[in-house]
Amino acid sequence: METRTPRGFHDVLPDEVRRWQFIEDNARRIFDLYGFSEIRIPVLEFTEVFARSLGTTTDIVEKEMYTFTDRDGSSITLRPEGTAGVVRAFVENSMHAKSPVSKLWYSGMMFRHERPQKGRYRGFYQIGAELLGPEDPASDADLIAMVWKFLESIGLSDRLTLEISSLGDQRCRPQYKEKLVAYFKPEADRLCPDCRRRLGTNPLRILDCKEEGCRKIAAGAPKMMDNLCGECAAHFGAVREYLGSAGVPYTINPKIVRGLDYYTRTVFEVTTNELGSQNAVAAGGRYDGLVEELGGPGTPAVGFATGMERLVLLHEKAHPGGFRREIKVFIAYVGEGTETAAFRLTAALRERGVPAEMEYGGKSLKSQLKRADKSGAVYTFIIGEDELSRGKVKLRRMETSSEEEVDIEAAPALSF
Ligand SMILES: [Zn+2]
Ligand SMILES: [Zn+2]
Repeated sequence: METRTPRGFHDVLPDEVRRWQFIEDNARRIFDLYGFSEIRIPVLEFTEVFARSLGTTTDIVEKEMYTFTDRDGSSITLRPEGTAGVVRAFVENSMHAKSPVSKLWYSGMMFRHERPQKGRYRGFYQIGAELLGPEDPASDADLIAMVWKFLESIGLSDRLTLEISSLGDQRCRPQYKEKLVAYFKPEADRLCPDCRRRLGTNPLRILDCKEEGCRKIAAGAPKMMDNLCGECAAHFGAVREYLGSAGVPYTINPKIVRGLDYYTRTVFEVTTNELGSQNAVAAGGRYDGLVEELGGPGTPAVGFATGMERLVLLHEKAHPGGFRREIKVFIAYVGEGTETAAFRLTAALRERGVPAEMEYGGKSLKSQLKRADKSGAVYTFIIGEDELSRGKVKLRRMETSSEEEVDIEAAPALSF
C-alpha cells in the first residue's frame, strides 16, 4: 500500500496554513470591494467542457489533463483550470438572463499532469475571477486593477511586474497568424519538433517556446501588437488609459501569448524574478468567444487566475515568520478536582472570545508549562488544589515568569 501523496501533490500543514488563510482572506476582502461574488463549482467536468474551451491543440488538453472514463462510460476530467467550469456554470444557470454583468470568483484545487518542480505541482490551488457581460475596456482595466490591489494587500506588489498585451480578435488574428506562418516556414528545419508541429496547428505558441533555438528565431517574428485592427488597437489604448488613471503600474510585453486558445484582445501576466523559471504568479485576459463556444449567448468576458503555491513561496521570502497560530491563554492544573475547574475556566474564557487551550490528562506542571510555552500562550492559569479551595488561581505571565493570584470567578473577565 502506498501511504504517500502521489507525485506532484502536497499537503498544506498547520504551520503553513495561516499564511494561506491570510492571502485567501485578503483575496475575499478585495474581490468583495470590487463587487465580485464567490461561485463554487465541481472539481470535475465532462472532458468536452475543457476540450472545447481550452482548445484541442493546447499543451493542457494534449498531454496534461487527468481524464478518466466514468462508470457510465462518459469521459470526465479533473479541472486543469477554473474558467471553463465557471463559464459552463454561467451558461447552465442562464446567468446572462439575470443580470447584464456577472462578477464571479472561485478558489480551489486544479489538476495538471506536468513535470513537478519548485512552485509547480500536479495538484495546485488557484484563486481566480471572471467578469462576464461587458466588452467595455473599463472592465478589463477594473479586473486588472483588482488583481493589482489584491497583490498590494498582501504586500507583494513591489516585488512584481505587471505586463499587458493584446492578442487581437477574430478579425485581425487570422491575418497575423498567416504572417507568422510565412515568417517561420523558411526556418522550419531549425525549430524544435514541437514548434514544427505548432506551425501547422497553433503558430502563436512558437512565440512562447522555451527552447533557445526557437527563441532566437521568434525574436524577429512580427508582433501581434503591430498588427491589431482598428477596434482592437482602440480597445487596448483605452485599457492602458484606464490603468494609468487607476495608478496601476504596467509595462507592455508584446510576447505574452498565454497557453490557452480562448483569449482575445487584452492579456496580462504578473511575474516575479524570484522564483526561477516559475515566474508567472497571476495571469489572465479577455475571452469574448468562450461563452458562445460552450453553448451560451455571445457574451464578452475577462478573467484571471493566480497560483497559490507561488504566491505563498513569494510571500515567505518577502515576509518571513509571523504566521503561526497563537493561543492567548493556556490553562494548567495540578491535583485532585482541578481538571473540572480547568475545563470550566477554559470554556468561560472562550465564551468571552479569548483563544484558550487547556491541558489534557494532567502531566507534571513542568511539562504543562513547556506545552504552554510552545503554544505561544501569553498567559497561563495554574489551578492548584490549595488555591482552588480558596477560590483563587495563579496567573503566570509567560514572558517574565512572574505570577500573581487572582479570583477564579473574576479570571475570565481579566483583560488579556
Ligand atoms: Zn520550439
Ligand atoms: Zn482586431
